[in-house]
Amino acid sequence: MFLKCPECGAPVRRVPRSLLERIAGIFTSRYRYHCRKKECDWQGLLNSRSTAVGQELLLILGVTMVVVALVYGMSFLLVSGGSRS
Ligand SMILES: [Zn+2]
Repeated sequence: MFLKCPECGAPVRRVPRSLLERIAGIFTSRYRYHCRKKECDWQGLLNSRSTAVGQELLLILGVTMVVVALVYGMSFLLVSGGSRS
């Protein structure tokens, strides 16, 4: 995907991130970019793929729903089991 510098609109190149950014990057799809234009010299974080964030949210939502369903199912079994005896 072709990304542009938010300051001047010139093409940007991906640069290696610091350890802290890499750890934070586990949860986000953000990468550090550096502007190719020497006069601009902009550097910052950009979303590499706008859809990745939505996919991550869907994954979190899916996992949450499964956990809620499991907890609900277990509590239902406990309640129904208790009323029977
Ligand atoms: Zn720039």
